[in-house]
Amino acid sequence: MTALPTLHVTALQNLLSPAEVITDADTMAPFCLDQRRRYRGEVFAVLQPRSVAAVQAAMRYCHQHRIPVTPQGGNTGLCGGATPHASVAGRGIILSLGKLNRVRAFSRADYSLTVDAGMVLADVQRVAAENGCFFPLSLASEGSCQIGGNIACNAGGLNVVRYGPARDLVLGLEVVLADGTLVDQLQPLHKNTSGYDLKHSMIGSEGTLGIITGATLKLFSPPQSVLTAWVGVDSIHAAADLLAAVKNRFGERLSSFELVSAHALKLSADYSNSALPLQAAWHVLLELTDSIVGAELTDPLAEVLDEHGWTEAVIALSESERQQLWRLRENISAAQKRIGTSIKHDIAVPIAAVADCVTDCEAALRQRFAEVETVVFGHLGDGSLHYNVFLPPLFDDAVYAYEDEVNALIYERTLALGGTIAAEHGIGQLKNHWLPRVRSEAELAWMRAGKQQLDPHGILNAGKLLPENGTHGFQAVPSK
Ligand SMILES: Cc1cc2nc3c(=O)[nH]c(=O)nc-3n(C[C@H](O)[C@H](O)[C@H](O)COP(=O)(O)OP(=O)(O)OC[C@H]3O[C@@H](n4cnc5c(N)ncnc54)[C@H](O)[C@@H]3O)c2cc1C
Repeated sequence: MTALPTLHVTALQNLLSPAEVITDADTMAPFCLDQRRRYRGEVFAVLQPRSVAAVQAAMRYCHQHRIPVTPQGGNTGLCGGATPHASVAGRGIILSLGKLNRVRAFSRADYSLTVDAGMVLADVQRVAAENGCFFPLSLASEGSCQIGGNIACNAGGLNVVRYGPARDLVLGLEVVLADGTLVDQLQPLHKNTSGYDLKHSMIGSEGTLGIITGATLKLFSPPQSVLTAWVGVDSIHAAADLLAAVKNRFGERLSSFELVSAHALKLSADYSNSALPLQAAWHVLLELTDSIVGAELTDPLAEVLDEHGWTEAVIALSESERQQLWRLRENISAAQKRIGTSIKHDIAVPIAAVADCVTDCEAALRQRFAEVETVVFGHLGDGSLHYNVFLPPLFDDAVYAYEDEVNALIYERTLALGGTIAAEHGIGQLKNHWLPRVRSEAELAWMRAGKQQLDPHGILNAGKLLPENGTHGFQAVPSK
């Protein structure tokens, strides 16, 4: 360690406490490596503040001394957003929110829960349930990701079709700005039309505008009647028709509508040691819920399926059958790891264009890579897809040599259909050179102005989200 970081460590230990400032290399190592082991950052300390006042003190110091700060939640992000960028190697700190994990308030009248940002999502769900309520944000990483990270990424997940992404579930936020200023907007207000809303700028800002330290979350009545069904269809068009028919019949009772390709299902079934629920080219896992006990869902669903000739269907008759079906969906990510390394995409297009998107991407890939293997699944209910590409025989990190080329093929087709390259995982350092293709010049200028205003020294999550005008050696992306 050079003299300067040593001085900073001593100062930070005095401002916080020695226990809140980690400098041991082995203890810091897991914080410096991203979830997919693609990015390894280098910092002189990992801070784990135990109070909002400690976050403020740390930020005030870092602002004053121009020390780069990488905010980190559960470190489950898939775009390298929580890993320090190479451009700040050795000069900065990671600010880990994990020790800031208390429940602050519950209001039955407002159906709201206020928690520290470092609370693990599964714990938020549990606390809501203990209070007789339901917090619907649900992702496969919910055992490790934190609510602050979910909000920073505007996370989506399995229940977006009914409840929306994280943005729709936040009533209020508490944020520490780059210079240590505290903005407290934690009131459980269901309406507030008093001008621009800083909260919405923070949601999805991926740690580039401020540190989220607390959140007031919107709760719902717990589902009392649940119907889970697995339906086989012959095309994505048919799956989209099924979605429209179910929405039409059940309205807001449709909570989840997941699309799974036959290949993705086979991988997951093998991995899970489960039989296939049925044979089909495409599969839909759908869930209907109602907060009324004993709501009649089964017969009306059977009617919809009959009416449209969707005869390949399995309905879960018990909680264990329901979990078996969900396991097949949730194990897809783990199952594909067995094949090896893939080039992953979380894209979204208007629901009516999902089928064309898959067809166009497949054709473009196959023309360039004859042996290409794709694993396609996702949240058709909100138009988003996980589109993962394997290039046999490259089943290890060697596949990344083709990443730019594969991304260009997928993203060009996605954008041509009015879609986005970041449906729910964010931009991070993986995709920021593509941002100018997703956002207009005017939007980028507005983003940069906001960044300049809130973080004038650019200490927060440098090298993430916003493209740095080529300073990081990104490959040029063709303009629109
Ligand atoms: C198996 C698996 C399944 C997943 N499924 C989904 C899914 O269905 N839907 C989905 O949306 N995502 C999914 N993800 C991605 C990931 O879990 C989410 O993006 C999650 O919201 C990240 O939360 P985190 O606490 O781990 O954040 P981190 O990974 O720690 O950080 C993510 C970003 O947020 C910033 N950040 C974190 N905490 C704060 C804070 N308190 N204040 C300011 N900035 C902060 C970081 O700087 C970084 O830019 C999945 C990941 C895995 C591994």
